Amino acid sequence: MMFKKILIANRGEIACRVAATARRLGIRTVAVYSEVDAGAKHVALCDEAVAIGGQAAAESYLRWERIIEAACASGAQAIHPGYGFLSENEAFASACAQAGLVFVGPPATAIRAMGLKAESKRLMALANVPLVPGYHGDDQDPHLLLHEANRIGYPVLIKASAGGGGKGMRVVQRQEEFAQALASCQREAQSSFADAAVLIEKYVQRPRHIEIQVFGDSLGNFVYLFERDCSVQRRHQKVLEEAPAPGLSEELRQQIGLTALEAARAVGYVGAGTVEFIVEQPDEGGMRFYFMEMNTRLQVEHPVTEAITGLDLVEWQLRVAAGEPLPLKQDQLKRHGHAIEARICAENPDKQFLPATGTLRTYELPAISEFSPSALRVDSGVRQGDAISPFYDSMVAKLIVHADTREQALARLDAALAATRIVGLPTNVQFLRHVVQSQSFAQANLDTALITREATVLFEQERVGLNLAAAAVVAHTLLAEQSMQKNQAWNEPWAQRDGWRMFGQAHRHFDLEFHGQRQTALLHYGHDGALDLQVGSSTSALHFSARADGIALDFADHRLCVQVICQGELAHVFTPQGATQITLLDALSHAGEALVETGNLAAPMPGKLVTFHVRPGDTVRQGQVLAVMEAMKMEHTISAPADGEVAELLYAPGDQVPEGAMLLTLKT
Ligand code: ADP
Ligand code: ADP
Ligand code: MG
Repeated sequence: MMFKKILIANRGEIACRVAATARRLGIRTVAVYSEVDAGAKHVALCDEAVAIGGQAAAESYLRWERIIEAACASGAQAIHPGYGFLSENEAFASACAQAGLVFVGPPATAIRAMGLKAESKRLMALANVPLVPGYHGDDQDPHLLLHEANRIGYPVLIKASAGGGGKGMRVVQRQEEFAQALASCQREAQSSFADAAVLIEKYVQRPRHIEIQVFGDSLGNFVYLFERDCSVQRRHQKVLEEAPAPGLSEELRQQIGLTALEAARAVGYVGAGTVEFIVEQPDEGGMRFYFMEMNTRLQVEHPVTEAITGLDLVEWQLRVAAGEPLPLKQDQLKRHGHAIEARICAENPDKQFLPATGTLRTYELPAISEFSPSALRVDSGVRQGDAISPFYDSMVAKLIVHADTREQALARLDAALAATRIVGLPTNVQFLRHVVQSQSFAQANLDTALITREATVLFEQERVGLNLAAAAVVAHTLLAEQSMQKNQAWNEPWAQRDGWRMFGQAHRHFDLEFHGQRQTALLHYGHDGALDLQVGSSTSALHFSARADGIALDFADHRLCVQVICQGELAHVFTPQGATQITLLDALSHAGEALVETGNLAAPMPGKLVTFHVRPGDTVRQGQVLAVMEAMKMEHTISAPADGEVAELLYAPGDQVPEGAMLLTLKT
């Protein structure tokens, strides 16, 4: 019998993902949330929610006694653990059973068997699953470990046996580096997993990460849902994942799939699991694959498998957990097209991928096309205004594209990333675009060193030049002023920017900062309403108009749609080529300057009043020069915004005048 109600023991995108399937299947959902997550999206999406207190994972999502209590109290029949947190916790899986709850995952025995890398390798050796040459014994004597490393031959990889998420891993190139790398791996293993045990493996040549999605049911049936390639990694963590793995012969593909089933069978696996292989691509050609580890849970990158098979893996998990047989047999499984997933993370790729926190001030993800809804999928656990806190993972969202061919999928992913606009914290969105556009990725020249190899085109990139950034921010400012004027009920005649060009031509300065350099953009107003923008030594005609999705910009012989989102003085400029930031310095004083030009009779900047050209009682014509100021070694004239009569002079020649101070009053 399918469950009527389940508790989702997770947060973020995966909690939302599980809730979506549950809703579709008519299963009621119970969310749990920490103190920081009271207003989170996953809480809003579920039918009920239970506060479990705390902030850090250890005080909230990892407190399984409370979570089990919440499940029992709310009448849930099963707990879905998502990934991370409690998903691979054997004690939790057992405790669920003791409380009469179904754990949506494998039996505790299978979690234990695959939990420690070293132990799982011993088991796999018995099941004739190929292993990377290495040492995975209990004896952790440093001399023995060094001896083993020498025997295996360098380079070797030291791994935390209890590890996950790439933590603790150290590549050792030479014998002399071994002792230090071992000590540092042990320290990290102890602090992250409370277990300092390590194993040593040969570091394979041109390694490629290929994993198999497997499924077992409680009746002893097994299938594999093809492979995923997750070779694009940073710090041994996945960045882009795709299915199918490019360039694999059907024979090898099937061989790896069947090997994964052997691994799953050997531990009596039930539910969704992933068997990870490291694939060696020796210089002399060919490919060899070795078992790396098994993740006994749903994987972050499961959507690419869903895209190519058209299946809902969470539904499969729930059916299997409810005791149903696997919905399909191996020969009924078909794959279609190519899918790629990109993980959008709050981090700074140019600073060694340092994770970032902050508020998602603007959070616009690409729209899903109504013509082909399966072409793009967005899995996100946050909304605009939400914060990425330091307590949990830095992953913000996942974009998943699907197309007939890899080439099309790549183009789709690039377009989806271009339409992703996040302001408020640094993300890897631009970096992901650079990876997608890199030669190695485009040509499927895949291995785990891809990011290092392509570093020169991935890091510290600027695809939007000063001229375009300046044109975008100027156009944005002018449009914002126009719309402000339209909204002003009083609509004073001098508030109209375009009415002001008495001398046939006028200028307006924009002080900018781009990549730490001060820059000036000079806007020339022509007789006929035409605008020219001068940036540095080049001048081009500037045309623009507001569009629903941004600004249609025509500048320097280019037409494109840009979007500008301002955060104080900092303007985030999004263009089809990429995104950049440019600062419009002292926007306030520029606003003042604009008002002076259009008729506000205030000082555009702090300076000295040189002279008045009028006296009280004088009638003046629009545009007539009223006063001259000197500031920053330049003279600035203040002209009449409209016909009128001078009422009062508020300063005397020689006075120091603060910025924004009214110099005189005018009756119109
Ligand atoms: P996948 O193979 O699914 O990509 P990852 O290693 O990226 O798996 O981890 C998936 C999620 O689980 C991540 O959000 C990560 O933070 C979390 N995770 C994985 N292993 C651990 C661990 N040992 N301790 C804490 N979190 C982990
Ligand atoms: P984790 O549990 O942290 O995910 P894994 O054993 O799955 O650890 O390895 C993570 C990544 O490290 C792999 O995806 C791969 O890029 C790299 N890696 C692991 N083992 C090897 C190896 N023997 N040779 C080369 N690279 C490896
Ligand atoms: Mg792994």
